[in-house]
Amino acid sequence: MTQQQQLAALLFPHIENTPAHWIKAYPKRQLDPQAKVTRLGPSPTGFIHLGNLYGAFADERLAHQSGGVFYLRIEDTDDKRKVEGAVETIISSLDFFGLHFDEGAGLTVDKGSYGPYYQSARREIYQSFSKALVEKGLAYPCFLTEEEIASIRSQQEAAKLTPGIYGKWALCRDLSLEQVKKRLDEGQSFVIRLRSRGMEGTENAPAKTFSVRDAIRGQLSMPENFQDVVLLKSNGIPTYHFAHVIDDTLMGTTHVVRGEEWLSSLPVHVELFQALELPLPIYCHTAQLMKIDDETGVKRKLSKRKDPELSLDYYREMGYHPQAVREYLLTILNSDFEQWRLENPEKELEAFPFSAEKMSHSGALFDLSKLNDVSKEVLVKIHASSLADFLTGWAKTYQPQSPLAKADPAFVARILSIGRDGQKPRKDLVFARQMADFTAYFFDETFAVEDPWPENTSPEDCRSILKAYLDTYCHGDTQEQWFDKVRSIGTDLGYAAKPKDYKKNPQDYKGHVGHVSTVIRIALTGRANSPDIWEIQQVLGEHKVRQRMGKALTSL
Ligand code: GLU
Repeated sequence: MTQQQQLAALLFPHIENTPAHWIKAYPKRQLDPQAKVTRLGPSPTGFIHLGNLYGAFADERLAHQSGGVFYLRIEDTDDKRKVEGAVETIISSLDFFGLHFDEGAGLTVDKGSYGPYYQSARREIYQSFSKALVEKGLAYPCFLTEEEIASIRSQQEAAKLTPGIYGKWALCRDLSLEQVKKRLDEGQSFVIRLRSRGMEGTENAPAKTFSVRDAIRGQLSMPENFQDVVLLKSNGIPTYHFAHVIDDTLMGTTHVVRGEEWLSSLPVHVELFQALELPLPIYCHTAQLMKIDDETGVKRKLSKRKDPELSLDYYREMGYHPQAVREYLLTILNSDFEQWRLENPEKELEAFPFSAEKMSHSGALFDLSKLNDVSKEVLVKIHASSLADFLTGWAKTYQPQSPLAKADPAFVARILSIGRDGQKPRKDLVFARQMADFTAYFFDETFAVEDPWPENTSPEDCRSILKAYLDTYCHGDTQEQWFDKVRSIGTDLGYAAKPKDYKKNPQDYKGHVGHVSTVIRIALTGRANSPDIWEIQQVLGEHKVRQRMGKALTSL
């Protein structure tokens, strides 16, 4: 046994399996050569945000578009950040937005044969790979205490050197077997560090660079890593760097889609793949989500503190339809999506040829008002009955006491159908909270006269209009018959039959037919703006129409 093998045996007496064993236990996936395998690797912190969804959507599209696999791996190596119920939140949030995993961590059971998918259940695997690196002299135990590391750092700062454990600062690199044994006997705690080969003799950052291709950013030239990074922490748990290299290898990930905050540690990861003699996956570092600051007008990162729209809960609470969020996300994920949509208005968005190469690398601009515009277009294409199910489902959770929550979805579908047929359908439905407000006047409990009566119509005139309306109202009238009646009520009371007649000779009239119908509209809906009155009446039914007119008459 070499000294290194003895060291490895000393450090990992309980580890018998080798990397070869694990590589055999995780056979290559039987997929088409072009199929992509992607994963979401969230830490269970309980906060899942738009950036996660943005990345997950890219993952999902890359995998499903190529006949590959999209799986969930829970990166729970940091106990301090773990939050109860976080995994459930991740799975259900993504599910809501139409992102379904083919494989991976589940709440009760994992799905798939490349698990366990919780990193906390993979200790033995990480330790096997660590052991192998120690055997090859590519990793070593480091006993530096926090105080010693702090003192190294201040010496480095004083000398204006790059901070970290490397080169001559890596004081435990060359401990003899005897020295290690002694420290272990003394019960000293240790971490396992990589013996980086990037630092050949210099104290400063080495000039050597290497080249690596990122699917989003293209060919990158980066300085090689030279830090003896920690692979296993003192409790035997791996760092993100080490765990992801092993997991992505064993689980057959072809494309590692992750946030650009990981770009700076790419040299570490490349060195780890080399040290373990494993092939590099294709990295795809996504851009940060940015917004234009409302106050300063300057582009900045979305912030958890300032921007409620960063949290995925925001979209669920506001009641954005998942299809609208998906459609919008694609507009910021791939710059040519909007053009494609113009050319293919009827196609499912899954038909869009998504690619990592077309993703932005300089900050994806998120804009709520643009989301609202996209949402209007998306909702107009969703069948009213399906939208009604969505809306009542939303109300049950977010406005459980509202009449909407208790309403018959068929009735809600009739409300939502108003004005949606024909050449120019109304595009004013945006999200559930707004739709709830929009539909509130259909329910007596939430009906209220919110807008003032038209200025040029006195209470006396309003009463006359409503009285005549009630007297002549016939629920079976066609839209034309109905309008003719409104017009003659107006002319009888001194209103012009056409707005342009009134404009020409305002002195001759009290107002025009538009003012007459506004009075009826306010009595019926409580609002000066609404979809077509006749259509609303058909949905409300004769009894309610008469009741509302009567109520308005007594209140005036
Ligand atoms: N656990 C990492 C995070 O939450 C995942 C990064 C990755 O996808 O590789 O940021």
